Amino acid sequence: MKLTEISTVKALCNQFGFGFKKKFGQNFIVSQSVPEDIAAVAEGGCALEIGPGIGTLTRELCNVCEKVVAVEIDTTLAPLLETTVGDCKNLKVFFKDVMKTDVKALCDEEFNGKKIYVCANLPYYITTPVLMHLLESGVQFESITVMVQKEVADRLCAKAGSADYGAITVTCQRYGAIKKLFDVPRHCFYPAPNVDSSVVSIIPSEKENIYCKDEQLLTKVIRATFNQRRKTLVNALSAEIKHLTKTELAEIIVKCGHREDIRGEKLTLVQFAEIVNNM
Ligand code: SAM
Repeated sequence: MKLTEISTVKALCNQFGFGFKKKFGQNFIVSQSVPEDIAAVAEGGCALEIGPGIGTLTRELCNVCEKVVAVEIDTTLAPLLETTVGDCKNLKVFFKDVMKTDVKALCDEEFNGKKIYVCANLPYYITTPVLMHLLESGVQFESITVMVQKEVADRLCAKAGSADYGAITVTCQRYGAIKKLFDVPRHCFYPAPNVDSSVVSIIPSEKENIYCKDEQLLTKVIRATFNQRRKTLVNALSAEIKHLTKTELAEIIVKCGHREDIRGEKLTLVQFAEIVNNM
């Protein structure tokens, strides 16, 4: 069964009376190379897939991985998945909302200390929360390779000071190096969305080595900065950082080599950490 052909997807939907649910961001891959290229990242390891849909990427992952665990919110996909990937002995599907799933407990239980790669074609409506949920799960993934809306990929890969640069950029950089692997045009999905996509990888082992004396304070500083990105850094920080006066904050910013009126959106992760180390 060729899952990457629109005729196959339509036939499966008809057979099981499956209707695409916009609220779950259901745009399935209908390209041969895209799932192969994503799965190649996880070759030889174990994979955690979010949202298997009808199992197109799932099958490729099962072909190259020791074990695959998939989390799917939509229980009406169960009979389709049984037909498309029911024969994959190294696959376990959990019908759950990933946002309500304890990812650490799931990975500990299912992967038993093995190398875990996240691979997913993420639903657009929830891309950033899912990424944050994975990054904050406490699991040491080998990489997180996800298809996201091209605009989100641009934000993840943005340079400091650019319009796309934001809290999600810096938060992902704290976790790993971010690489854009390739773009995927909208016609590679069924139904076709009205945006293009890109596949990005977050790789913890290639992370820039940064010393920060207080990670929680760094989180607070990043949040404060991007919550009020049009304000100067000193004003944005003084609204949130209560143990320092505005004058003290200004002194720290200047001591770190910046103009007193700099906006925080211009700072790199290293520069944020340096400011925290001087607080
Ligand atoms: N992996 C399939 C593919 O590439 O063809 C489907 C990708 S589709 C863009 C997103 C999938 O995520 C859908 O199957 C959808 O039902 C599922 N999904 C949406 N929200 C979810 C959630 N909160 N938890 C788990 N799965 C979710």
